[in-house]
Amino acid sequence: MNRSFMPSISTEEELLALQLDGLRWTVRHSYQNSPFYRQRLQKANITPDDINSMDDLIRLPFTTADDLREGYPFPLRAAPFDQIVRIHASSGTTGKRKVLCYTQKDIDDWADMFARCYEMANLSQEDRVQIAVGYGLWTAGVGFQLGCERFGAMTVPVGPGNTEMHCEMLVDLQSTVFCATASMALLMGEEVQRRNLGDQIALTKVILGAERHSESMDRRIKELLAVDDVFDIPGLTELYGPGTGLDCGKHEGVHYWADYYILEIIDPDTFEPLEPGEMGEMVVTTLRKEGAPLIRYRTRDLTRLIPQPCSCGNPLPMHDRILGRSDDMFIVRAVNIYPGQIDHALSQVPEIGSEYQVHLERREDGRDYMILKVERRPRFDADQNKAIADRIARDIRQHILVSAEVEVLDHSALPRTERKSKRVFDHRG
Ligand code: ZN
Repeated sequence: MNRSFMPSISTEEELLALQLDGLRWTVRHSYQNSPFYRQRLQKANITPDDINSMDDLIRLPFTTADDLREGYPFPLRAAPFDQIVRIHASSGTTGKRKVLCYTQKDIDDWADMFARCYEMANLSQEDRVQIAVGYGLWTAGVGFQLGCERFGAMTVPVGPGNTEMHCEMLVDLQSTVFCATASMALLMGEEVQRRNLGDQIALTKVILGAERHSESMDRRIKELLAVDDVFDIPGLTELYGPGTGLDCGKHEGVHYWADYYILEIIDPDTFEPLEPGEMGEMVVTTLRKEGAPLIRYRTRDLTRLIPQPCSCGNPLPMHDRILGRSDDMFIVRAVNIYPGQIDHALSQVPEIGSEYQVHLERREDGRDYMILKVERRPRFDADQNKAIADRIARDIRQHILVSAEVEVLDHSALPRTERKSKRVFDHRG
């Protein structure tokens, strides 16, 4: 390794000092250069001189996805156009896309952050990184590529879909790392098995991004592609893109790059900060982003901070995997349910695969019903269906406090997709 992309901090005090510097810089930069932030801060009666300790963070107003929509097409912009070298966009759930501006420094910082992901995943410059995520306005493909080049490994930029070309490159170029959404990696795993290519490929690692997925999906991908390790890369366009953290080989949580952004977890209903270990919404504040800085940006992603340090010894703190989005929450008989909770419960059942669907119905009795469709793994027999269904229903009742009707289907009965799989179907009208 010629160069390390890890931060030079070793204690929590050093990290906090660095974060305070970054926070003060961000508030001043935003106040001076972004009309949106200046107005927002003035309304909250805050000037840059008011930020003197990390405790002042919670005095700052939140920024939301609605603010990005209202500022379309260049929301939060805090640098003049002659310094903006690129934009990326993500689809909003309704209406206009979220467009974010990058200066050259932002692009360089993002490349360094992403290179750190490859370093954390223990790649070397000899690795060959085949990229199967989307290119274009989206941050995904170009982020994986930028980081790979910065790190110094070989990029094989195939893009999404196209299993034919992916198989060809895996065999001919002997790619060692495969970067994809979980759905695409699963599809490729099944394709490699179907074509009997297991002995001809050289993959050792899979890096998954851009889609929330379960532990059982990780295990299945690991098994099908016969790799040593599967890593989880978080990220959102507002915060540069993917590459803002990675779980290390210990898999005790996702190390996040706390020298680039502050991560708070808040209660999405009361907006109060939560204690480490408590599940809530991720709120991020960037520390050196110029083009479109974020001040307490509500991501809608749900996770928790992991209270204890990682056994790998790296001082970068960790958050848990993303449990879902606060928007994805659905309510069945007055119980709030996040898809991630269902993922987690189903991942503990060895007899079923990683694919599932949740159907919500309102029946003639006026009550809501949740029907879970799961797939029995090939090595188990259909006569076990009832026992499997009973066990899942019991687990769901115990952990999520709601009853579910469970249908156990044959292996491969549910649809597969290269894109993000839709799992929750609400028929309640
Ligand atoms: Zn670690």
